[in-house]
Amino acid sequence: MAVRPPPTARCDRCGRPIDEVQVALPCPDCAGPVGISFDSETRPNARRGARVDGLWRYGAALPLRDPNDVVSLGEGDTPVVRLPRWGAAHGMRNVFAKLEYIAPTGSFKDRGTTLVVSRAREIGARELIEDSSGNAGASVAAYAARAGIPAIIFVPAGAPAAKIAQIAATGADVVRVEGPREAVRDAAIEAARSRNAYYVGHNGNPYFEAGTQTFGFEVARWHFGHVMMPVGGGSLFVGGWRGLQRAAAPRAILPRFHLAQPTGCAPIVAAWRRGMGRPVPIERHPTIAGGAEIEHPARGVEILRILTASHGGAVDIHDDAIVAARHELATLEGIDVEPTSALAVAGVIALLRDAVIRSEDRVLIVLTGSGLKVPA
Ligand SMILES: [Zn+2]
Repeated sequence: MAVRPPPTARCDRCGRPIDEVQVALPCPDCAGPVGISFDSETRPNARRGARVDGLWRYGAALPLRDPNDVVSLGEGDTPVVRLPRWGAAHGMRNVFAKLEYIAPTGSFKDRGTTLVVSRAREIGARELIEDSSGNAGASVAAYAARAGIPAIIFVPAGAPAAKIAQIAATGADVVRVEGPREAVRDAAIEAARSRNAYYVGHNGNPYFEAGTQTFGFEVARWHFGHVMMPVGGGSLFVGGWRGLQRAAAPRAILPRFHLAQPTGCAPIVAAWRRGMGRPVPIERHPTIAGGAEIEHPARGVEILRILTASHGGAVDIHDDAIVAARHELATLEGIDVEPTSALAVAGVIALLRDAVIRSEDRVLIVLTGSGLKVPA
């Protein structure tokens, strides 16, 4: 990975150049999504034998000018394991899990954060601001410490104590905000504007998405028929799909991309059932799957487009089914995940019941966050 010309950020819709400290916000002129253009490999290729571990083996396909700016904790290259006992309990022979929680801070968020913080360091950001229900906050706090950049993390007042403790442990300031998840985001954006800080905004940040594409690079060689994951903001869903498209051989058959949301907050599922192209307003109810509790997902249109393109399915899961799925996976396979991740486990059961997934199909369940985050 050599020094290259710097990436440039522009509105995907109207072409307006965007200041990089605001790259996670919609275009100020037309509210379109911000994209980055960069001289990178279109077909990602892991450098075997390179002197780096994890996802930076794909560095030539990632948008960073200078490899010396990489801020890494060894993220990526998560294991794929077979689930024989859980599969047998549900009549499935070819079900696997990708253990995305085996990551420096215990969730898949580290894939995106390593890109965002590396690029923030490259442009000389003096302070990082993020809003998060927990996992992205813990991830940004850790990578900010690693980079030597101060961070302020805005969290919902009711976020799990273990997650808040994890954020504070690496020295970030934690600001608790009352009210809905959107209020937390608004407070973070306002603070970033007034302090001229770098707003991480992982769900809308194109660098974060570039990092989550490495999930797709890793999955491409496995030839799964189905991929199921929990979706809140959908950063892994969108980035993972784009990464798969980049990494797959020409004319390869890509897996169907399915998603699960908690019944208490399922704007994508509601839109999908009604055949709508954008998320619909919902009445939100409390759920234990806090990581997926996003009422107005900024990438909703892209998520619905991917569901259509990949012939995927979207299901909502009640909290009691989430708890049952977590318990069953833990007791049958020794894998304990947080409730938001157990959504995907319950989601496969639901699609099996609906005959969208058949018992002989090759299925990948994406386990995004560790059970240590939310003790059972
Ligand atoms: Zn625009």
